Amino acid sequence: MSSTIDHSRIQTELKLLFLSTPVGPLGSGLGGGVELTLTNLIQELQRRGHTLQVVAPENSAASNASLVTIPGELQPTAHTQGRASPIIMPGNSALAGMWNYAGRIQQDYDLLVNFAYDWLPFYLTPFFSRSIAHFISMGSLTTAMDQVIHQVALQFPGTIGVYTRTQAETFPFAEYCRCLGSAVDLSLYQFCDRSGPWLVWLGRISPEKGLEDAVAAAQRSQTPLKILGKLEDKDYWRQICKDYPDAPIEYLGFLSTVELQQIVRQCRALLMTPRWIEAFGNVAIEALACGVPVITYRRGGPAGIVREGKTGWLVEPDSVEGLVAAIARIDQLSRRACRQQAEAEYSLTALGDRFEQWFRDILTSRD
Ligand code: UDP
Repeated sequence: MSSTIDHSRIQTELKLLFLSTPVGPLGSGLGGGVELTLTNLIQELQRRGHTLQVVAPENSAASNASLVTIPGELQPTAHTQGRASPIIMPGNSALAGMWNYAGRIQQDYDLLVNFAYDWLPFYLTPFFSRSIAHFISMGSLTTAMDQVIHQVALQFPGTIGVYTRTQAETFPFAEYCRCLGSAVDLSLYQFCDRSGPWLVWLGRISPEKGLEDAVAAAQRSQTPLKILGKLEDKDYWRQICKDYPDAPIEYLGFLSTVELQQIVRQCRALLMTPRWIEAFGNVAIEALACGVPVITYRRGGPAGIVREGKTGWLVEPDSVEGLVAAIARIDQLSRRACRQQAEAEYSLTALGDRFEQWFRDILTSRD
């Protein structure tokens, strides 16, 4: 099965094939934070001289990359399914088309990188001659996914990447996961020393994100709340609007990074209210990059990002009173310290170093 890799190149520039998430077009927001991670990696790895091609569903946009789009039906998102759910493959699947394409052109690349939290790429891994690095963007959700990833982790050690240790620990194969973190392109987020009166909530509007608690806290504290993000579950959103008719909230839609940071940087704090174990919480570091503190439940990725009492407050999970109390203490936090934390811990250079080393380790161990 094995075919020749140009070993001199492993030390220098790499040819990488990135396979995006099949739950939505790249740029649509349906893929959540992994879209931002992918965009950041494209930028940083190309800057280092690596060659990249991205394969993504139809209607994707990636201004900074060579892109091949594949038509077909999108995958349903994993977080809406129960733990025992079977694997779903729609007819005319975009995911199947993407991996069919990858199979045909794999010899032109040193390494394939999978960004899909879907069964098929893991199942196909032993049938590919090129190595595949799998970046997992969510915690454990279904038994079927855990099993297929576990098999790949055992058969191809070192090829499973995750955002955080907390995320890895949701899986039965935590010790096989390589933590790669996340980053922001700091040049895109402008520091803002002074804020307006608003709080902000960012993300996919979907039950696992717990938006209703942020809305309840805005209502109780009578603090205006701006809401930005993909309206993934319309019934859920309608229910929130019905339950809190008088909350001082404003929904601004799904915005591009440039537009998003223009709003976020004027806000007093970001509220994060996840019901699930958030793998990372990219919105937290985007807020910090603008100098905006983060108030979050002490749960999952965001709890590991916030420096309590410096760049945010950690709140007892699911406690609206806790959120209200933290909102009253926002002024004790330093906006300058928030930006400094983003600069020190979440730069694109650091992200590029970690991913580049991961790819080289996989290629070297496959020899
Ligand atoms: N986002 C965006 N526009 C918006 C609101 C959110 O581009 O109006 C992006 C945000 O930049 C972040 C992503 O949505 O990259 C949410 O990612 P996160 O890691 O916070 O959560 P996930 O959706 O992956 O669970």
